[in-house]
Amino acid sequence: MTTLSLQSGVHLINRRDGFIQIGIHPESSVLVPEAAAPLLALLTGRHSRNEIIRQLSTEHFNNHEVNTLLDLLVTNNLVRVIADSSLRESVGDVHRINNVRANTSSSLTSDQRLTTEVSIYGAGRLGTLVALMLSSHGFARLRVFDSRPVTLADVSSWGASRVDVGLRRDQVVATILTRMHKDISLRSLHTTAESSHRIAIICPDQPAEWPWFDPSSADHFMSAGVPHLLAGATSTCAAISSVITPEDSSCLRCHYHALTDRDPQWPIVSLQLSNRPSQDLAPTPLLMSSALEVVSRVELWSTTEVGRESSWTYVRWPGLGREEKAWGFHPGCGCQWSSQLAA
Ligand SMILES: [Zn+2]
Repeated sequence: MTTLSLQSGVHLINRRDGFIQIGIHPESSVLVPEAAAPLLALLTGRHSRNEIIRQLSTEHFNNHEVNTLLDLLVTNNLVRVIADSSLRESVGDVHRINNVRANTSSSLTSDQRLTTEVSIYGAGRLGTLVALMLSSHGFARLRVFDSRPVTLADVSSWGASRVDVGLRRDQVVATILTRMHKDISLRSLHTTAESSHRIAIICPDQPAEWPWFDPSSADHFMSAGVPHLLAGATSTCAAISSVITPEDSSCLRCHYHALTDRDPQWPIVSLQLSNRPSQDLAPTPLLMSSALEVVSRVELWSTTEVGRESSWTYVRWPGLGREEKAWGFHPGCGCQWSSQLAA
């Protein structure tokens, strides 16, 4: 049912000249005669346009006048049209995005989401957002790893709040997840059974104004044969990798070697970055965009055979423009040696 309600912040103001003023915006506020008070009283979000007209017609209002006035109020953005009363209860942007997406998945894909084991390393603002979005997309086997304490920089509208400062980051995320999804128990957050379909998402805190990843941060997953994806967002840019499949895709160290080919001093630069404290200065829309990118890649990976070529997607701030940059195997990296020996 479509209902009408005054916009939030728009007030009815009684004037002394026999008029009621709706809103104070100098270009869009409207004056109506005091006789229109019964109409204004119905703009609470509980009545549709037809109901308002029906109730008022008993009090000798002209239907045409009522319609004209309502049109004017909607056009001037003083009254909003609420399409579906159930939507009013959704909490935030994350929920809203997920409401749309969760309704579009088939049962086949939701089965795969239930059995896919996703481990998230790094529960800063980006890692937390990725965890919340994945859980809302039906990925029930989530584990989050980050033993660092929550600081004020981690506080966000979707994640940690001020009262969480000082607590372990991964515990805070686990608490939020169980609050959001009553059906998720802490046990499913910490699955013990080995799943054949595993993926690791690495979301390290960023120390600079451009995304940087410690070349050793994916070593463990390379040696364990676990497909993994890296994502990081800074004040100017976010970088999201494709899903790197050990032995099939060129690895993070291949990329590091390629950067060193371009700048022989890169190892020294990179080493210094690893000692810098991180600073989370990423703008919220950039984080949202990055998290959606991560989620869509994990979804695609969980349901279909995806390409094995490794690439970065860079999302620039402001503007959210995207560019894709692929990287290949580097002869100096050992990640291909085992498959070459086998062949
Ligand atoms: Zn490699």
